[in-house]
Amino acid sequence: MKGVVMRHILRSQQFNRTDIEELFKATDTMRKAFKSSLGRVQFRPRLLGKLMFTIFYEPSTRTRFSFAAAAIHLGMRVVGTDNAREFSSAIKGETLEDTIEVLCQYLPDVIVLRHHEAGAAERAALIGERHGVSIINAGDGKGQHPTQALLDLYTIKQELGRTDDIKVVLGGDLANGRTARSLVYLLSKYKGVRLIFVSPPELRIGGDIKSHLIEHKVRFEEETFLLDALLHAETLGRDIDVVYWTRVQRERMENPGANFGESYRITPEIMSHLKQDAILMHPLPRVDEIAKEVDSDPRAAYFRQAGYGMYVRMALLQEILK
Ligand code: ASP
Repeated sequence: MKGVVMRHILRSQQFNRTDIEELFKATDTMRKAFKSSLGRVQFRPRLLGKLMFTIFYEPSTRTRFSFAAAAIHLGMRVVGTDNAREFSSAIKGETLEDTIEVLCQYLPDVIVLRHHEAGAAERAALIGERHGVSIINAGDGKGQHPTQALLDLYTIKQELGRTDDIKVVLGGDLANGRTARSLVYLLSKYKGVRLIFVSPPELRIGGDIKSHLIEHKVRFEEETFLLDALLHAETLGRDIDVVYWTRVQRERMENPGANFGESYRITPEIMSHLKQDAILMHPLPRVDEIAKEVDSDPRAAYFRQAGYGMYVRMALLQEILK
């Protein structure tokens, strides 16, 4: 980011460690300022009068609201549609390219796009670029969700105090989930990171991610059950710092009725095998893969994680719209 204007946010790989460090510093500043009402007022003029469009072809709660809140806290105006597959002209057969072309005619500064097809944000950015409009990928099918990855990494930094020398379990539906994929790309930039992927064999993480890890010399292993990853963690040198759990992405499956059972549910019993200073993360929404009783465990970081998201997005908006 130093000196270079970053116009679009499309994938995790576009950020280097210095970009991330600067972004996290700006995020810390925002969080500190927003503790007081005076701080909030001071930030209001930052992006005053700028316009954000949010167009979401897939459901969203956190991403849509936190982007809108981030924009409004910085003085922007926001117009958007959720359920865009039904409520935009997509239902009449309009292409994504035509929709973005038209939206750009209305002079937004940024378009936040969630789409069901991997690569959609990159396609939109080709059009945004011609009009000087920033495109933010808010999740593209099974592709990526880079702003989620940034807030996930920020959570790790906040909660553990470091992003180097960490052992991270990433588990659940790794074949269809975009958040684990995006986070892996960021984690692979740090030293001494060891990853343990936990999923049923049919939901293993993609070969593209494994090739990336091999290329970047990041140590990783695969397990089928979380308990196997946690038991004897210390003797195997796997004293785990982070468990990043995800839901089964039923909407992306041919057989959404498949049952992955109790072994993919995090319960207080599972938590008892996790060290005291470890954290449990989840991009949310949680369905039933984390038992409600785990919420009161101080290591359950998922709601704090969602909270950090708005500040990370404020810092990002400030960066790309400056
Ligand atoms: N909210 C995240 C996403 O949009 C995670 C999920 O839906 O499971 O990818």
